Amino acid sequence: MYYCPKCDRTIPKERLEQADRELRQQFGITKLSSLRCPVCDTEFIDLEKCKEGGAENVGKSRK
Ligand SMILES: [Zn+2]
Repeated sequence: MYYCPKCDRTIPKERLEQADRELRQQFGITKLSSLRCPVCDTEFIDLEKCKEGGAENVGKSRK
């Protein structure tokens, strides 16, 4: 699971591949493959790599 701290959005790894393909084909955007948010160009956080504290920051504004 990847997380964009700026947009407060998460994207599952399985979904990332498909989204990357779609964005490439439709808009020529390749940011997802370098793990950057296509919307705001912020580097994604890999939530699986930072379980400590990382997931706690997700969706703060939603809770
Ligand atoms: Zn973003």
